[in-house]
Amino acid sequence: MNLLPADPLPWPPAPMAQAHAAIGGVTPFSSVDWPGQLAAVVFIAGCPWRCHYCHNPHLQQRQASLSWASVHDWLPSRRGLLDGVVFSGGEPLSEPALASMLADVRALGFGTALHTAGIYPQRLASVLDTLDWVGLDIKTDAAGHDALTGKPRSHWPVGVSLAMLLESGCAFECRTTWSPRWLPESRLLTLARQLADRGVRHYAVQDYRSAPGQPAEGALSLVAQQQLAQWFERFVYRQ
Ligand code: SF4
Repeated sequence: MNLLPADPLPWPPAPMAQAHAAIGGVTPFSSVDWPGQLAAVVFIAGCPWRCHYCHNPHLQQRQASLSWASVHDWLPSRRGLLDGVVFSGGEPLSEPALASMLADVRALGFGTALHTAGIYPQRLASVLDTLDWVGLDIKTDAAGHDALTGKPRSHWPVGVSLAMLLESGCAFECRTTWSPRWLPESRLLTLARQLADRGVRHYAVQDYRSAPGQPAEGALSLVAQQQLAQWFERFVYRQ
């Protein structure tokens, strides 16, 4: 039985897709986007969700500001300086050329990582064997998911994506950008317990800020932090 949702946008052949890849920007060096690795971050423009807290609304529309060819030509100069390349967004799995770009990155000798909101499990399945690490957003619990993302039944593909990651053996982290405004701490703990029970070993909670430098809307209690540290092999609270 196929549990995957139908994919309305079959990916075109690699050469055709790459020429039209929606690269929205590049961060040349990051030590925080892939735990323990130094990476460049390639931002893919395009996302079907409309999260009310989105920090990258300019990346929701599919619009290129760079060519993949220019990024590909630049990457060899980073050998010895970077461990890998993280594809972020937007939603990087919205990009038809992602699979061929991942292959390019690997061919250059770099590791590959992906940030995803779990929107496209079928596409995630098709690239999992070319990924060294995945950061999967668990935005909130099922009860609050549609209100946060602006899309109906949006928690469902996330659950399928998580099941795939758990079965794949690919290293991954689940992370929740958190504010008590949309997810009280007690519900966050219930969500985290469910993740731990499913077999998630690495979990991060990231404080929501309305803009860089602005204060967080709430702080996770010490009791909650200690509880989360017990449930996961690695728990990180990013304040
Ligand atoms: S999934 Fe990410 S990029 Fe898309 S709207 Fe939500 S926060 Fe923004």
